[in-house]
Amino acid sequence: MSDRSLETVADDEAPQFGELSPPNRTLMGPGPSEVHPRVLRGMSTPLVGHLDPSFVEIMNEVQELLRYTFRTDNQWTIPVSGTGSASMEAAIGNLVEPGDTMLVPTNGYFGGRMASMAERAGGEVVEVDAPWGEPLDPADVEAAFDEHQPDVFGFVHAETSTGVLQPHVPELTDIAHAHDAYVIADCVTSLGGVEMRVDEWDVDVAYSGPQKCLSCPPGASPLTLNDRAMDKVLDREEQPRSWYLDLSLLEGYWGDERAYHHTAPITNVYAIREALRLVAEEGIESRWERHLDVAGDLKAGLQDMGLEMNAPDEYWLPSLNAVRVPDAVDDAAVIDYLLEEYDLEIASGLGDLAGDIWRIGCMGYSARPQNVEFLLATMEDALA
Ligand code: PLP
Repeated sequence: MSDRSLETVADDEAPQFGELSPPNRTLMGPGPSEVHPRVLRGMSTPLVGHLDPSFVEIMNEVQELLRYTFRTDNQWTIPVSGTGSASMEAAIGNLVEPGDTMLVPTNGYFGGRMASMAERAGGEVVEVDAPWGEPLDPADVEAAFDEHQPDVFGFVHAETSTGVLQPHVPELTDIAHAHDAYVIADCVTSLGGVEMRVDEWDVDVAYSGPQKCLSCPPGASPLTLNDRAMDKVLDREEQPRSWYLDLSLLEGYWGDERAYHHTAPITNVYAIREALRLVAEEGIESRWERHLDVAGDLKAGLQDMGLEMNAPDEYWLPSLNAVRVPDAVDDAAVIDYLLEEYDLEIASGLGDLAGDIWRIGCMGYSARPQNVEFLLATMEDALA
């Protein structure tokens, strides 16, 4: 038997790094939020194969838990392999066919991403305007429909760049359906934290990400389509431009057949199963309430300090609090101070609001009173 010891002998060129030890941050930015310890434990579960009968059972459970969380009976409800942009592109890239027109909002960063994806799908993009920091007005949406007759209408339910919640969802879906269009809702920063009722509000397609109000690492991203939307996808004349996100192919894996399409990110599916189990244990409506309560305390505390929220109360988004940076305060210096002194993450503004706001997340496992108390105390210190 060879005398080679199990101790490895590194060659001179092999990079050598210490064990992984990232700082222990409190995550109160726009995402990721803090991951629940039960989800982290779930992620250290040994793998089974992605076609193993036990994994097929786990897939069924994840789909059922996702339906509960989206408030839908849609059969077509899956975690897409990839980040929120993957479920976003799966929605837009499958629903929008070359020659289709998609109506997108201009009131935030992610409406712009919708437009880019629709263009790449071969669609023509038309816009409905509202300033950054305001929601869409149904009257403007109606006018845009009359002018452009779009086939698909996308809106962002919870705009992470502005801290604005889009109210009037049933009004918007009524307008779209009266014009025979399909509705795609971006629920990345709302699912599991802010009221969203896919079936009752008649949303045809909704997508999300796991790293916000579900408090799960990115990697498997929720998507749901009703039969009407799925019929459009399955009747397409031209294949979608992405093979990986082609829902007619993914149906083979997530539908009845359970046949190989790509190797599912098993650990991420374990993670989202545990995150969704936590949603079901808490109850979706209680979870929406908790976000309102805890973020309400955060908002009140910030206002007591003399700070101003960017969104008026009617459109305030509990999961993402956009706070106006006072004159003569350097937004980046405060962000750096909180990170360096307190290991606390918040974020700056994006796009039109860069330099004007801080973005303070209050999502999932990060939406706890102790996090809010910590944030308020450290913010007070930073501004002193
Ligand atoms: N849509 C919204 C509203 C988001 O906030 C994000 C990410 O923050 C995305 C889409 C894209 O998700 P991801 O960064 O996970 O790809």
